[in-house]
Amino acid sequence: MNLRLKRRRLYEGKAKVLFEGPEPGTLVQYFKDDATAGNGAKKGTITGKGVLNNRISEYLMTKLGEIGVPTHFMRRLNMREQLIRKVEIIPIEVVIRNIVAGSLSKRLGIAEGTVLPRSIVEFYYKKDELGDPMVSDEHITAFGWAHPHELEEIMSLALRINDYLSGLFLGIGLKLVDFKLEFGRIWDEEGNMRIILADEISPDNCRLWDVRTNEKMDKDRFRRDLGKVEEAYQEVAKRLGILQEFPTPDIVPGSSSDTGGKAS
Ligand code: UDP
Repeated sequence: MNLRLKRRRLYEGKAKVLFEGPEPGTLVQYFKDDATAGNGAKKGTITGKGVLNNRISEYLMTKLGEIGVPTHFMRRLNMREQLIRKVEIIPIEVVIRNIVAGSLSKRLGIAEGTVLPRSIVEFYYKKDELGDPMVSDEHITAFGWAHPHELEEIMSLALRINDYLSGLFLGIGLKLVDFKLEFGRIWDEEGNMRIILADEISPDNCRLWDVRTNEKMDKDRFRRDLGKVEEAYQEVAKRLGILQEFPTPDIVPGSSSDTGGKAS
């Protein structure tokens, strides 16, 4: 049991909790095992998911940082927590699609698995009460959720991230079917604003299909009751080369320190 002083809890989402960070401008992001689908209609737990997503997101954000994509990730603190930069979240979910699946398939009646002639970027307004409705760039700029130049930057980052991650996953035998990103604003000392990648990148918000068998290796296994949910998350981590034999996580949410629960 970790007995360190607990940090102040700032926000609890469906899969993560945010705590105040050790220095100004930082937060601690704690990854839960909780899983929801259909805007909270289906609830459950995926054992070990938080530990794996913490590690997977760390890995992917670090890789993206290495190719010059600015992200909120600073460092992993322990098995379930990472230190991140505090951003002003832009209330838009950015979905990038390479292959038809999920809501796109339902909405337009196009068979799942149809390869898109080019990558498609969609925007959804982050508003749980409304079920995150799809919006266009016109709504986003007209309602002031983001300025046109910010949206341009978001689109360009999203496509770069898609190109990079598609290649990375293909290298480990997975197709990046679609995924969701969130971005935020930060300001430097001179008051200049920058858009950076926030949230997480993990099988919770990516669709990943095995190249050979098309087997789903992501949260659709939970959403669609396909079974072997934990195993799918583990397999993604294993193929990324980051799966360790983790001991049972015993981290008190928000009690992080740099020495707590070594996972690597
Ligand atoms: N997605 C997400 N959070 C959401 C909705 C979607 O992370 O609230 C991800 C989802 O995992 C998938 C992609 O965005 O990789 C596209 O999801 P879609 O619009 O097809 O919705 P779904 O079928 O998941 O309801």
